Amino acid sequence: MKPSFFRQTQYREPDKNELKEIHAYNLSAMQLMQGLGYAIIGRGFRREIEQQRITNALKNLIVIDPNNTQYKLALQEEENKRDFKITRLVGMLPDNYQYKHLGCDIYVFFPKTLSRTKVLIVGGIHGDEPAGPLGLMKFLEQRNSKEILSRLSASFIPVMNVYGFTHDTRTNEGNKDINRNYDNGTPSKEAQVIKNNKDFIFDLASKGFLTLHEDDTKDNFYLYTCGKNQKLFDSLRSVGKKSFGLATGEANDKYPINNGFVKDVLDDGSFESFLGNNGIIGITTETPTIEKIDKRIEANRLLINSFLRHFVL
Ligand SMILES: [Zn+2]
Repeated sequence: MKPSFFRQTQYREPDKNELKEIHAYNLSAMQLMQGLGYAIIGRGFRREIEQQRITNALKNLIVIDPNNTQYKLALQEEENKRDFKITRLVGMLPDNYQYKHLGCDIYVFFPKTLSRTKVLIVGGIHGDEPAGPLGLMKFLEQRNSKEILSRLSASFIPVMNVYGFTHDTRTNEGNKDINRNYDNGTPSKEAQVIKNNKDFIFDLASKGFLTLHEDDTKDNFYLYTCGKNQKLFDSLRSVGKKSFGLATGEANDKYPINNGFVKDVLDDGSFESFLGNNGIIGITTETPTIEKIDKRIEANRLLINSFLRHFVL
């Protein structure tokens, strides 16, 4: 699945499709050229084979584009994608939505009148996992999204780690993983904001939650589940399976993956375990970062669709 463009060794101008591949390829390759070097490779591409692939890709990029024009364009395009404006999102939501600033840069969007079927979707907990927030945007652009949203009370925290999202880092600006220490130790300021608003958050998520993550150690899809709702869990697994196939072995936190599922992880101090330990059923999806961004965004749109449809059908 190596992009065809990177197999070229001779100098020539890339064609339109190949340019698209470069743009979609990965920010990490571009950052490498900015001199961030192996720190990025170490973070994003742990395996030897990936390091080789990036190195080769980079050599070809330099040959083809000595002035880095394409690189700069690609970087700009990636930055545009990350330009996640609250005002833009407000415009995309149905008229009956409002939003509340919880603290830090965390905004939650929810219907003005809440029905009994309340679910919560959260993206961008790790900033270098952009397909969730962008998939949510794509869902909201979809023709029938307003109709779906009129049939339940879906709330959204589109990006929980805004610093990480805009800087392409897993952690916040204090270099803290905001998805840890909900249960003990010192939580990040973002986690503390959620804990300060826990009654509100638990209420919005009372029928279920969906958190959208990505994994840079797997080639395929898997999901964490909390509690029991096998029909819901199966429907999201089948979406992920169709898009990427199912991952096997261990999740990157070493929990075993069975049939695409990692069940009831309640002891890692994450946001999800915080909800799960309070009796809330939910799903955490993991799309493979190694795949092209457009494919991952589309998969996240489909996952959001499936999740919401489960509650309205
Ligand atoms: Zn994550």
